[in-house]
Amino acid sequence: MTQVYNFSSGPAMLPVDVLKLAQEELCDWQGLGTSVMEISHRSKEFIGVAEQSEKDLRDLLQIPDNYRVLFCHGGGRGQFSALPLNLLGDKTTADYVDGGYWAASAVKEAKKYLTPNVIDAKITVDGKRALKPMREWQPTPGAAWLHYCPNETIDGIAIDETPDFGDDVVVAADFSSTILSRAIDVSRFGLIYAGAQKNIGPAGLTLVIVREDLLGKASKACPSILDYTVLNENGSMFNTPPTFAWYLAGLVFKWLKGKGGVPAMEAINQQKAALLYGTIDRSDFYRNDVADANRSRMNVPFQLADSKLDALFLEESFAAGLHALKGHRVVGGMRASIYNAMPLEGVKALTDFMVDFERRHG
Ligand code: PMP
Repeated sequence: MTQVYNFSSGPAMLPVDVLKLAQEELCDWQGLGTSVMEISHRSKEFIGVAEQSEKDLRDLLQIPDNYRVLFCHGGGRGQFSALPLNLLGDKTTADYVDGGYWAASAVKEAKKYLTPNVIDAKITVDGKRALKPMREWQPTPGAAWLHYCPNETIDGIAIDETPDFGDDVVVAADFSSTILSRAIDVSRFGLIYAGAQKNIGPAGLTLVIVREDLLGKASKACPSILDYTVLNENGSMFNTPPTFAWYLAGLVFKWLKGKGGVPAMEAINQQKAALLYGTIDRSDFYRNDVADANRSRMNVPFQLADSKLDALFLEESFAAGLHALKGHRVVGGMRASIYNAMPLEGVKALTDFMVDFERRHG
């Protein structure tokens, strides 16, 4: 197999060891003579996958007992609707902190169900893009929740603080592109959700971690397949779950545990980010315009000073085995997504390439 480093923002690189294991057991899983994709989700073998994966995730994130873990369909965008449909109850507003593209997308969807109170967190500090610290967010009394996105995949901007708004504020957060990349205190959140296709596994699976006292409030119009209470009562098997994605997520959780869990990943992610931002900052040839405190460790957008070199950079990096570095269409430039599965060697290969490219074209 030719090893390339895939910097895609999602669907994203998966650990090679996990892919090899899945390949090994693809056609004859657990001695059944079939693949895991071809058996009933209600079989004892698949129930085993479901139970073990939840247990491993609970260990990895130290999820308290009063939280339920749901394995859902519908992606991050599905949760933009599921949140209001499940948690609004008799309230009419919720706070939405706008820090970037995905937080704003959540607002757009929320408007179908309620009147969101938008807290614009985007600021400029010393000419750099930044986000207001949490102490400057003012939750609205009586709002049903406060929603934010700790890591904006497209903007490359992050809020790494731990929410501390007191017991009356239900914090709901879109962890799609940062879950399992650093330690978090789950007890500070009412709801955490994440599409799988970045740090968990293949697309098609969405994780929801919800505090159990928030269940039982779904609106009558909430489709049963998005209803947290229904999903919880049915072990996330009200309808057929995305079984292969779930199985693969389970393998990723085991892989993470084998690597030393979330703290070990956090240390490596810190090193990877420091190396890449260091390379960008060292010269005027490359530029990242996010203030230090808000730089994402997962998604690193950067521009070349001379955008006429963009196409050549992409062509040469691809030829060097460094794939999917093109920036998102709304931002342009480059973006390197460096989730858990990206090894330090991959970031080294990228930074070596960047230094060499600058030497040849700078
Ligand atoms: N939230 C964030 C932070 C994301 O990065 C994405 C996808 N890139 C989404 C939501 C939307 O996820 P999905 O495509 O799974 O609906």
